[in-house]
Amino acid sequence: MNKIKLALALSFTLITILWFFTNTLLYIPFDSNLFTKSLAQYTGIIAFSAMTFSMLLATRPLWIEKRLGGLDKIYRLHKWLGILAFSFSILHWLVSKLPQWWSQLDRLIILDAISGATEELDPSAFEEFLESLESTALHVGEYAFYLTVLFLIMALLKKIPYRFFAKTHIAMAIIYLALVFHSFALMYIDYWTQPIGIIMAILMIVGTVSSFIVLLGQVGKKQKSEGKIQSINTYPDMNMFELTVKSDKWKGHKEGQFAFLKFEKKESQHPFTISSAWDKKTKNISFTIKALGDYTTNLANKLKIGDSVVIEGAYGNFTFNNNTESQIWIAGGVGITPFLARMERLAQQDSKQKIDFFYSAMKLDSNFKTKLEQVSAEANINLHLFDTSKSALISGEHIRNTILNWKSASVWFCGPSKMGKSIKKDLKGNGLHSKFHQELFEMR
Ligand SMILES: Cc1cc2nc3c(=O)[nH]c(=O)nc-3n(C[C@H](O)[C@H](O)[C@H](O)COP(=O)(O)OP(=O)(O)OC[C@H]3O[C@@H](n4cnc5c(N)ncnc54)[C@H](O)[C@@H]3O)c2cc1C
Repeated sequence: MNKIKLALALSFTLITILWFFTNTLLYIPFDSNLFTKSLAQYTGIIAFSAMTFSMLLATRPLWIEKRLGGLDKIYRLHKWLGILAFSFSILHWLVSKLPQWWSQLDRLIILDAISGATEELDPSAFEEFLESLESTALHVGEYAFYLTVLFLIMALLKKIPYRFFAKTHIAMAIIYLALVFHSFALMYIDYWTQPIGIIMAILMIVGTVSSFIVLLGQVGKKQKSEGKIQSINTYPDMNMFELTVKSDKWKGHKEGQFAFLKFEKKESQHPFTISSAWDKKTKNISFTIKALGDYTTNLANKLKIGDSVVIEGAYGNFTFNNNTESQIWIAGGVGITPFLARMERLAQQDSKQKIDFFYSAMKLDSNFKTKLEQVSAEANINLHLFDTSKSALISGEHIRNTILNWKSASVWFCGPSKMGKSIKKDLKGNGLHSKFHQELFEMR
């Protein structure tokens, strides 16, 4: 089980155990009313916890990033937490609605059933306060649920342009605040003095702070620095260009890491891997950018030497960090960027590691090819080039037939996810015992 799955499984198992210390779903003899009330609480707590973790990850916390293996993995986890929250919200909504539909009970009875109010006891001031919020909290929760469904569908539908998704997704922070209010008002009052209540209070505080960080545009603020464009080098045959930026405040990066670049105030920031090794003396950082969509298509023409760029980073854990005797690198298209940075560093070092680099591109620009052959020779790397307009794609089988000790080499892949999946499946299926590291060039 990888770190991400383990972290998820442990967190939700812990919350479930803490919830079972305080409440139960096992009513003997079975009592449908109590069961429904408890299930509404449990599903609500899991959905809220998943949303809180997701909200926390949206703030790009560096301390979690390092532990979970990079920001791209964090965003994948953010997405899966969103899906988990979504699934449990549907259950929570159904459990809350079903009794209403079944028995056609009047609204007040349903409010009672969901809140679990204990009428026979004299309510404390806190209970009275929570009861006064009940009706509003139910309405807020219901509308927040409908909006969550809408925004999560928008996040998952890749046909919705990223730019539109990114701008509207911020609304989730407001929806989250509405759900804090809903959960605060409708969670069983007895929980507040139990471990589950304490955990929920902590989650509410963490999630609320995270929402404000997002809403006030403070995400990654400490990692931001300004730079000026020094040079723009185009590779027209590959629809790519290399951009070099000088930033005096940049704190440095490891080869393989990436940064968010913001060229214009109105445009959202875009992630790009840093394709040069860090050089303290020049403070220059390079990016190799391919025209892959709306914004990147015209970017090379829009930019000029001397333009300002806001750089946020460095993020990521695809940093070639292991001591295996040999490494196998595989890249497709613009997935070459982390390897460019690493080759630059290795050319300055005397590394004993044996490295074979398999690189495929649709059409290799001649200047780019010359640069690649030169830098790989300086870094003492065996380069295997695949111009896919002339030859076949890189396959796991080809790698196995070419590299003698491939089973013990660590593998580093960056490129189209389908290509990565098929090579990983082949190598793992045939006995690769080292790790297959894969950089994901996608954030949703
Ligand atoms: C960790 C990482 C490293 C990357 N490194 C490189 C690199 O070195 N060189 C390179 O050319 N490309 C790289 N990319 C891809 C690059 O970020 C996208 O190609 C670019 O943002 C596309 O923008 P667009 O508006 O032109 O495309 P669109 O047509 O709007 O989007 C194409 C796809 O790009 C992604 N995308 C678009 N906008 C954003 C954004 N603001 N934030 C995050 N993802 C976005 C989405 O998945 C979207 O589906 C990297 C992506 C990631 C996640």
